[in-house]
Amino acid sequence: MKSFDLIFLGGGISALMVSRYLKLQNPNLKILILEKKIITNYNPGESTVGVAGLFLIRDLQLSTYCYLNHLPKNGLRYFFHDEQQNFVVEECSEIGSNILPIFPTFQIDRKSFDADLQILNQKIGIEIELGAKVTDLNINDDKHIITYKKDNKVYKSSTKWLINSLGRANNQFKIFDEISPKSLNQSLKTASSWGRFTNVSDIDLLGDKKWQKKVGFTSRYLSTNHFMGEGYWIWVIPIGKDIVSFGIVYDYKIIKEDLQDPKLFLNFLKSHPFCKLLIQDAQQIDFQCSPHLAYKRTQFAHKSHISFLAESYAFVDPFYSPGSDIIARQAYLLEHLINSNQKDLSNTIETINKYVDLELSIIQTLYQNQYLGFASFELFNIKSLWDFHSYTNRMVFNFYQEKFKDLNWIKREIDAGQSTLKLTKAIQTGFVDLALYLKENKIEKRYNLNQYSLRQNRFKIEEEILLNYNDDQAIIEHLNLCKITVCELLQVRYQYNFDKKIIQDQLNFSLIQNFQLNNTFLEKLLKKLVKTMSRNILSKFQQKLEVELQIEDFSLKVPQYFKNQSKEMQQFIYTLWNAKTPNPLQESFPKL
Ligand SMILES: Cc1cc2nc3c(=O)[nH]c(=O)nc-3n(C[C@H](O)[C@H](O)[C@H](O)COP(=O)(O)OP(=O)(O)OC[C@H]3O[C@@H](n4cnc5c(N)ncnc54)[C@H](O)[C@@H]3O)c2cc1C
Repeated sequence: MKSFDLIFLGGGISALMVSRYLKLQNPNLKILILEKKIITNYNPGESTVGVAGLFLIRDLQLSTYCYLNHLPKNGLRYFFHDEQQNFVVEECSEIGSNILPIFPTFQIDRKSFDADLQILNQKIGIEIELGAKVTDLNINDDKHIITYKKDNKVYKSSTKWLINSLGRANNQFKIFDEISPKSLNQSLKTASSWGRFTNVSDIDLLGDKKWQKKVGFTSRYLSTNHFMGEGYWIWVIPIGKDIVSFGIVYDYKIIKEDLQDPKLFLNFLKSHPFCKLLIQDAQQIDFQCSPHLAYKRTQFAHKSHISFLAESYAFVDPFYSPGSDIIARQAYLLEHLINSNQKDLSNTIETINKYVDLELSIIQTLYQNQYLGFASFELFNIKSLWDFHSYTNRMVFNFYQEKFKDLNWIKREIDAGQSTLKLTKAIQTGFVDLALYLKENKIEKRYNLNQYSLRQNRFKIEEEILLNYNDDQAIIEHLNLCKITVCELLQVRYQYNFDKKIIQDQLNFSLIQNFQLNNTFLEKLLKKLVKTMSRNILSKFQQKLEVELQIEDFSLKVPQYFKNQSKEMQQFIYTLWNAKTPNPLQESFPKL
């Protein structure tokens, strides 16, 4: 019986990428991948974002391979429309870049990627058995015996570390549910259906020259295009010569049609005016679906030298394409586990499990109850800025710096985790509340036509990360982002101008952690403003005033309370109340 350091059960994208990473880090590792299929097929995991892109080109040494074999991706792009108006391609509001992203990303054709990686991995000494269906597991702390069937013969191999990389089919063996029970995540009610098509129309040719010029004549085709609607989004991802992946992800509390039915899936695509144009002459190649996407196991790693990976551990939501990013980070986490000596293993496992759990909780807030707001350009232009900028500022920066290599850094992230989570939840709840407000007032689509936003996917910090960026800058940048977000949310909700220095100065992390898009928060803010104004008046006029402010004062040039004060004081208050702070982040947004 052959023995290994690691055996991966299942040879999908997570096993292929993570095993390659570990082998490149430590060529002495003996690794076996057992994959039941002989031939690879199309699968989700097609669109990659910053971390996964870096992982592919830097950690997996696949830069040339990716450029020569997969399409370079032109960022994430979102289109909005208004069903009440005649559909005109050029009039759809759009969020998306007009240059290729600074951090390279790719549209991965899983069918060829998985097959190529099998060969490339074998070349560096990873053993891969295809057509090998795992049939039995004998778990013995650090010498697990794996039984698999290939060509009607039964084989056994032993391993110290057993990695469950079975994807969605991860509960074939009872032992996994015993050591780490799995449950559906009921706070995310999303489902999905998807398929690949040939002969899809070229999106770049659907609009006129002015529309093409808007994106600097770059290729919208190469973007991961999202068609946004109430309760759903549709992805359109080109994955090779004349093959395009289409998928619908929907909140099944909002979308009542049974899109798990292939016919209704196609009808839904055809009923969307933009998709209809794209697939008018197309032929569908395959169909896949999942009636409930989100689930989670209780533990990522277990002391008996077992770890889960990617979809065998959990799944949240495919919006923003986080799947391969998560795999990239888990590769680093797994490295800590397998390098840990027996004495430290329990502590390392505890740290890794806490980190993975925290990361998942934070990611979840990005999606929970957010699907209602997907119909609104106005809302999403704020949300996508916050989501993607904080992702770049935190995740891409940290990954670029290889911070995940440092277990102490991971521990510090866990220590700061509850504050991060609280702040993220506060902001994300603001988006949910704004979506409800816009919907109730039937104004959610008021900017769905004729807007073009460059605010996502083109941040100055991306260039700075490549050159010279540090943790202190990242914190200041994050605070600036939070300030912009809070002010914009309040502005849309209350229609007052919150872009004032005196307001921005009050917004520190602790106040933002308690942000709510309602009068209670505004009153809290007013109390702080009262204190600041009183202090300013005392120092300027040596007068102690019982200043009073009302929410309506936000709409005035000078708050009502000061209307009966001296001209000089009114002038002073006017300047104080109306001064703007230059927010460097806001100023870095490209103007069009
Ligand atoms: C709707 C949807 C859209 C998504 N979009 C994206 C995206 O755009 N970008 C992104 O990065 N991620 C995306 N993801 C996530 C992505 O699909 C996953 O991250 C990725 O597929 C997980 O890889 P895996 O290795 O865990 O599973 P898989 O790739 O499914 O691999 C599991 C493997 O195990 C094998 N297997 C099963 N049983 C056995 C057995 N008994 N013996 C041996 N082998 C076995 C299977 O044949 C399979 O090859 C999406 C997911 C969904 C559901």
